[in-house]
Amino acid sequence: MKIVMLGAPGAGKGTQAIMISEKFGLPHISTGDIFRSNIKNGTELGKEAKKYMDEGRLVPDELTVRILLDRVSREDCAGGYVLDGFPRTIPQAEVLTKELSAMGDAIDFALNIDVPDENIVNRMSGRRSCPSCGATYHIQYVPPKKEGICDECGNALILRDDDKPETVLNRLKVYHEQTQPLIDYYNAAGVLRTIDGTRDVDTVFNEICSILED
Ligand code: ADP
Ligand code: AMP
Repeated sequence: MKIVMLGAPGAGKGTQAIMISEKFGLPHISTGDIFRSNIKNGTELGKEAKKYMDEGRLVPDELTVRILLDRVSREDCAGGYVLDGFPRTIPQAEVLTKELSAMGDAIDFALNIDVPDENIVNRMSGRRSCPSCGATYHIQYVPPKKEGICDECGNALILRDDDKPETVLNRLKVYHEQTQPLIDYYNAAGVLRTIDGTRDVDTVFNEICSILED
């Protein structure tokens, strides 16, 4: 099963992707997490990606496609995966479609988590992330058991630099200009499912499960 998560930044893609990954035994691949771990480790890729991420812009397609194709070519992806944050542009989607079709394969589901812009700034300013394991929380909606501490690994949670309101507004603009057209792209491919993402995490997940199990 090959799944693409669509939706604005802060719509809940990562939250749901982790739950799908655990329930269905699929690797969760987040290009944002790959970039952040490269930034943390001080790699050349991380230095390059950071210039764009700090401004809420997209990392160039060529670089992003390269790291994604490298990741999905690994053995653990043979039975499928959940892509979270990729593709984000039509050219990225086209490369993925082409690579898959060369192997007689295709994306099975594009899950579009629909959340209006007015909810997004609140979702992202309240998001707290674990810099170590990548788990995310929300100070109001998805609080950790102990304030400021990751339930999974006990590390201190942080507010991502790019979750500050001024950067979020730019990320939303970029989403509407460059990523939203993917909704039509995957609709035309017959694999789009749109889910109302304004409901609580478990309700959204139950709907996703019934789509995937159908
Ligand atoms: P994305 O991966 O799409 O950027 P996240 O999964 O990180 O989004 O979610 C953004 C923020 O919203 C996080 O703080 C997360 O805990 C919270 N969140 C996710 N899903 C919901 C939901 N259904 N209701 C309320 N808050 C949510
Ligand atoms: P995310 O963790 O998915 O919210 O991504 C954080 C940031 O990483 C984005 O704002 C982009 O700067 C960059 N990024 C992640 N995925 C992609 C992608 N597929 N294409 C371009 N940039 C990306």
